[in-house]
Amino acid sequence: MHTEFKKVAMIAHDGKKADMVGFFKDHMDVLENMAIVATGTTGSHLQKAGLDVDCKLSGPKGGDAQIAALVAEGDVDAVFFFRDPLGKHPHEPDVQMLMRVCDLYDVPLATNPSSGGLLMMGIRDILKK
Ligand code: PGA
Repeated sequence: MHTEFKKVAMIAHDGKKADMVGFFKDHMDVLENMAIVATGTTGSHLQKAGLDVDCKLSGPKGGDAQIAALVAEGDVDAVFFFRDPLGKHPHEPDVQMLMRVCDLYDVPLATNPSSGGLLMMGIRDILKK
């Protein structure tokens, strides 16, 4: 099981960006002590909310693929990817690839705020030890 949490990735489809900012605010105490990487537009929302973020390309322009590469290289410890199941996404192949790579390398992946909250509880627990 993954037990080291130094860097996390945050990605939200357009319909879920407000949820992602709310999620960040709920968990700011933990997240501001970690390195955060995000897709471009999600990252700029998080920066405006006060988080120090390494912004990659926008998702449709390759940002999800960049984050998948970081996961494959062992550089990301958890992925919060709030997906919008009602939206159509031109970069769906990249979305699938990112999720596949998380499964391949057994990197925790939360695809909605509730699972994100549970993952964050686990991260908090591990960081306390
Ligand atoms: P964005 O990308 O943060 O640049 O909007 C997210 C995505 O759609 O994968």
